Amino acid sequence: MKKHNFYAGPSILPEYTIKNTAEAVMNFAGTGLSVMEISHRSKEFVAVMDEAISLVNELLDLPAGYKVIFVGGGASTQFCMAPFNLLKTKAAYLNTGAWASKAQKEAKLFGEVVEVASSKDKNYTYIPKNFEVPADADYLHITSNNTIYGTEIKTDLDLGVRLVADMSSDIFSRPIDVSKYDIIYAGAQKNLAPSGVTIAIVNENALGQVERAIPTMLDYRTHIEKESMFNTPPVLPVFAALQTLQWLKAQGGVAEMQKKNIEKASLLYDEIDSNKFFKATVEAEEDRSLMNICFVMNDEYTELEKDFMELATSKGCVGIKGHRSVGGFRASTYNALPKESVEVLVAAMKEFAAKH
Ligand code: PMP
Repeated sequence: MKKHNFYAGPSILPEYTIKNTAEAVMNFAGTGLSVMEISHRSKEFVAVMDEAISLVNELLDLPAGYKVIFVGGGASTQFCMAPFNLLKTKAAYLNTGAWASKAQKEAKLFGEVVEVASSKDKNYTYIPKNFEVPADADYLHITSNNTIYGTEIKTDLDLGVRLVADMSSDIFSRPIDVSKYDIIYAGAQKNLAPSGVTIAIVNENALGQVERAIPTMLDYRTHIEKESMFNTPPVLPVFAALQTLQWLKAQGGVAEMQKKNIEKASLLYDEIDSNKFFKATVEAEEDRSLMNICFVMNDEYTELEKDFMELATSKGCVGIKGHRSVGGFRASTYNALPKESVEVLVAAMKEFAAKH
């Protein structure tokens, strides 16, 4: 039976990515060697890195002065790398969840951190609004999509301050105005590639302004200057990332992705809102994530959670168990998830309602 992959990450990738990567594991670019056993400095792999960087430029329409790097260490290393490189005296952080808190914790090692707002009071089920950002903050850090709680900041905030954004779980899901950001970073294992590579988009003009010494590997300038080849890059994940970027372009780019993502998410949220057995954990429509859709059994039906899980599983839905800090269900509807998978889940919800 066909599996409908709703895992939050690592998560579904386009078939194009999986197939081409599997082929390159056996025979990369006609070399007769695996992509895993060839030098990262071979002309074949340098071409992969170059094309990946150039496609990110194209797909996100990067303004002049922005550089793309592929590094290891996950988004979690970016939690410290961003403040290491940018925080002069004071930085503002918006606390929208566990990952946002972890980013904030690292920044405190480098200067004063102002938490401008937090939605912790309601288990992060909303995005705080109308908060003030100190005018002298070096940047405001946001987590654009909160993978665990299913909230998302779907616009590019205009608060008169430079932005640093963790876009691990919604990068490439919509067009963004990159000029508002000094750094955008994302672990690849949601919308891009297998885990092991992290993408960072860096405004070069924002670098070189801190006085502290920065270890070479944690200095964005190192990776920009060496075009992500200062040390051995995660070759296989970068190859897979290139396939996804090619697929994205062939699909019509990030604007087309946004359209499809809105369609998929609306389908599921509409069912959650109209089916009396379920309720969404995030109420405000503008805060609802298009990537991670969190829902629980409605109050009178909590004892039926296991039954619905069984039904959905029997239809081939996998990875819909909610994060332990939210409970219930989480359906991740990343770029590569076909609409058909959402339709199967929605049909299971309807069938469940008809049965009970
Ligand atoms: N930020 C967000 C929003 C995430 O969802 C995750 C991982 N689920 C991380 C950061 C941590 O990423 P990594 O495991 O790549 O360090």
